[in-house]
Amino acid sequence: MLLIAAASLSTALANGLTTHVTISEYAIEHVPDGELEAIVGDPDLWLQLQNGTQFPDGGYPMGEAYAETAHWEPFQDRYLEWIRATYNEDYSSTEARQHIAFLMGLGSHGMGDQVFDSLYMQRAYVYDADSDWENTSMDTATDVGLAAQTGGQDTLDAWAAWDTMVSLMADAGVEVDADTLQEGQALTQIAITFGRTAGANPDQQAIYEAQFPWAYAHILDDGVHGSPPWEAKAVAMYWQVRWARLFGETAAIEPLIYTFPPTGSYAHPTDAESVESRLTVVLSRGVMGDLLVTDMFEVKDADGNLYDVSPWLFYGTSSHAIHLVPSVDWPADTDFTVTVKAGVPFIDGTYSERDASFTFSTGPWPESEPPIGYGCGCQSGGGGAWLGLLGILALRRR
Ligand SMILES: [Zn+2]
Repeated sequence: MLLIAAASLSTALANGLTTHVTISEYAIEHVPDGELEAIVGDPDLWLQLQNGTQFPDGGYPMGEAYAETAHWEPFQDRYLEWIRATYNEDYSSTEARQHIAFLMGLGSHGMGDQVFDSLYMQRAYVYDADSDWENTSMDTATDVGLAAQTGGQDTLDAWAAWDTMVSLMADAGVEVDADTLQEGQALTQIAITFGRTAGANPDQQAIYEAQFPWAYAHILDDGVHGSPPWEAKAVAMYWQVRWARLFGETAAIEPLIYTFPPTGSYAHPTDAESVESRLTVVLSRGVMGDLLVTDMFEVKDADGNLYDVSPWLFYGTSSHAIHLVPSVDWPADTDFTVTVKAGVPFIDGTYSERDASFTFSTGPWPESEPPIGYGCGCQSGGGGAWLGLLGILALRRR
């Protein structure tokens, strides 16, 4: 998804865009009723939401810098502030709502890539270690796998505020013209069409399943951290943060919008070498990598013993996902509290203002609290009490 596509047509055709759009679709279900839901859930604004979700990958096949820039919060903040200033925080007009839907699509894409790449792709590197990572694309394979299960997404007309995008890109130091943006968006339409048609074709399914067997099979598996059902929940939380910021407010859910494992989880893997034993926190705003220090994170057991973890800001500055990698095996049968202390540095020059905590345990799931969502027999661990909802959302299709 965030991988720079090679110029070859096959790679250019699909950068996981069916998956991205499906994540936006599922995320709507997790947004509480209210004004934000009235925008992202408005069928008349799905055109803008889907186009915004597709937009960042359109420039990659052409080698256009706008693609990478559009993925990240500094650019998306420019657009957010432009919307805020242009409409004076009155978002009742159709035009304002269209911009917001597109902005939320951009946010879904950027957050989706970070969650997917930091968690799902990291697992795929392990469980699909024999795949040809150089010459084939896991994002394409998983797109086909997802479309095979869901039917894929409709190819919609291209929409963007082209001239506004051009001028905001110029402000961000990226020269691009409207024609190029439209060409890029047309490439994303091809990718959506490709995902839908390949996903419906058994021969194509077999080809892509063979390329990345684990990643293909688990793409909608809520037992795997970072899979699209999880991404949708993280995106819905992020949308709420973005909505608050459209009013110049700090959302009540800041600074921690998601954790893997989710709070209250049991049976967390103990092997420090395993990708499954990491803890991952997703912050509400892009993080300033240079200013991040180890003692912003504390992992403590019930007796007050502290455990050493190394923070790994995945993708570096501006990204939101931080792995906390244990230096030694987690002790068995132990309950932990993880605290992200106030003072996490954000790229907008602010710092998180309060401590945020979550809990996990290496002990077994209590009989009273069965590990919902683990019927898959899959290799990935973790999960938690929130998983009950996830089976439902997979059923919804636009
Ligand atoms: Zn991307």
